[in-house]
Amino acid sequence: MIMRMSTLFVRTLRDDPADAEVPSHRLLVRAGYIRRAAPGIYSWLPLGLRVLRRVEAIIRDEMDGIGAQELSFPALLPREPYEATGRWTEYGDGIFRLKDRKGGDYLLGPTHEEMFTLVVKDLYSSYKDLPLSIYQVQTKYRDEARPRAGLLRGREFTMKDSYSFDVDDAGLEASYQKHRDAYIRIFDRLGFDYVIVKATSGAMGGSKSEEFLARAAVGEDTYVRCTNCDYAANVEAVEVRAPAPTSYDETPAAHAEATPATPTIQTLVDHLNAAFPRDDRPWAAGDTLKNVLVVLKHPDGTREPLAIGIPGDRDVDQKRLEGQLEPIEVEAMDEAELARHPALVKGYIGPGALGEKSASEIRYLVDPRVVEGTRWVTGAGVDGSHVLDLVVGRDFTPDGTIEAADVRDGDACPVCDVGTLESARGIEMGHVFQLGRKYADALDLRVLDVNGKLVTVTMGSYGVGVTRAVAAIAEGTLDDVGLCWPRNVAPADVHLVAAGKDESLYTAAEEIARELDAAGVRVLYDDRRGKISPGVKFKDAELIGVPTIVVIGKGLADGVVEVKDRRTGEREDVAATAVVDHLVALVRS
Ligand code: ATP
Ligand code: MG
Repeated sequence: MIMRMSTLFVRTLRDDPADAEVPSHRLLVRAGYIRRAAPGIYSWLPLGLRVLRRVEAIIRDEMDGIGAQELSFPALLPREPYEATGRWTEYGDGIFRLKDRKGGDYLLGPTHEEMFTLVVKDLYSSYKDLPLSIYQVQTKYRDEARPRAGLLRGREFTMKDSYSFDVDDAGLEASYQKHRDAYIRIFDRLGFDYVIVKATSGAMGGSKSEEFLARAAVGEDTYVRCTNCDYAANVEAVEVRAPAPTSYDETPAAHAEATPATPTIQTLVDHLNAAFPRDDRPWAAGDTLKNVLVVLKHPDGTREPLAIGIPGDRDVDQKRLEGQLEPIEVEAMDEAELARHPALVKGYIGPGALGEKSASEIRYLVDPRVVEGTRWVTGAGVDGSHVLDLVVGRDFTPDGTIEAADVRDGDACPVCDVGTLESARGIEMGHVFQLGRKYADALDLRVLDVNGKLVTVTMGSYGVGVTRAVAAIAEGTLDDVGLCWPRNVAPADVHLVAAGKDESLYTAAEEIARELDAAGVRVLYDDRRGKISPGVKFKDAELIGVPTIVVIGKGLADGVVEVKDRRTGEREDVAATAVVDHLVALVRS
């Protein structure tokens, strides 16, 4: 079927939409691919839908290729399964909840682990039925705190989600690898420049987890790579390598010293250098132990104070901290809450007043670098005083460790110890992880094993952001004048422009369009007559971003048409009689 600009349901816009923050969003709206219906909720126009369907087709092809079977769950779901796994509460404000006329609780599914687990439980009962991989391409709903960047973070979006079911860990590992390999093929075919990084498993629980990130400056995810080895991780998942515990036999006893007016790390370091100079080197921020107080907001609404001890040259990274504690949210502790703990003196908080066994009973977790034997300068719990030579394991014992300190360019690689970390930004396109038995346990999915014994099934979960992929591909390929689709996902193969008033141009263009269509080439034909100038048509063609633009214009009198590559801008004149064969070869190559 030939798409004709004269009748296509599209209006290109000259002006950027006011709410568009990133180029892909601006251009998808301006080129007539999507329309906003509400914050984070979009309608798909014909051009957009074509791209979306092509992305879906590639994903389906690769899923079917690994033997996964497609099914489809409703988006409107009952509360009970989500209650059974705790997620009805855990999701907090993150999901859309609604009631039916009888007062029953429902939700719009943010992800479907529960439903997949239950359907397998309903139908399967033996190890002989496994392994099994099933998937859907389906609409998800999440009441995102910050819907942004158009399709990149929507409140309604399409996700391909698959789940694997195996009797044992080796089976899960094999299913995981198959999906991981399929994802590599999917993202290659979609034309992404991407990296695979280690990830935290977040609200889902489970163990091994990796994300596919499209490299993009507008990305919300920060990842790091090692300059030496192949280590790559989402910043939230970086695990700092703890140094080996050191002996403290030689370390003098801890001693409190007067450090008046030193509530910040910098004022403290300056004071230490003036009043207590070291022999070996000056004091530095990294010699101090900074204790940061936060409040954990549990999904059920309860609030719990938490103290975090990190080297004074670091800051707490909120995303990393929340990544460890998900679904708990974290807030800074305000003055009123601080005032409820008289043992805590602002600016001078020390380990003496922290920990579950201390008077404050506040749980105290420290950075992994704060290991046994290390010595620190830290608050003495008294205004204007700090303790020096306070040794971990001798003078205080934290309740545990936590990965909350920021990760910086130049930090040592936690794996090879030779290279350093470099950071960059990306968009999470896909996520593969080994859920393990969390959902199967919660929903009692068990099968009989070879020996006739009931065993809990182990699961993997694998997601691709389908609508997000459309925006991310656009973001990664666009230029100053418009969209610039890779051939695999473009809404058409060729954008044919009849440029001029002479009717013979339209007759020739019509003929070329028909022949291309008959040869299976998908054509968008700008057949608009009347006041639409060639200049307007060229601008629209560049904005819409079909990979090959063919101009039937003045050259036709000499028997040639112009074939232009949208991405490189390269043009060549091709004989009108040969152009169909030329384009068919181009599209198939
Ligand atoms: P994010 O960290 O970006 O919020 P997530 O880790 O919560 O994503 P998953 O639950 O792993 O997302 O969902 C699988 C995939 O669905 C993601 O890899 C992403 O591509 C896509 N996705 C998730 N949330 C959104 C959203 N709000 N809008 C569009 N796509 C999304
Ligand atoms: Mg994810």
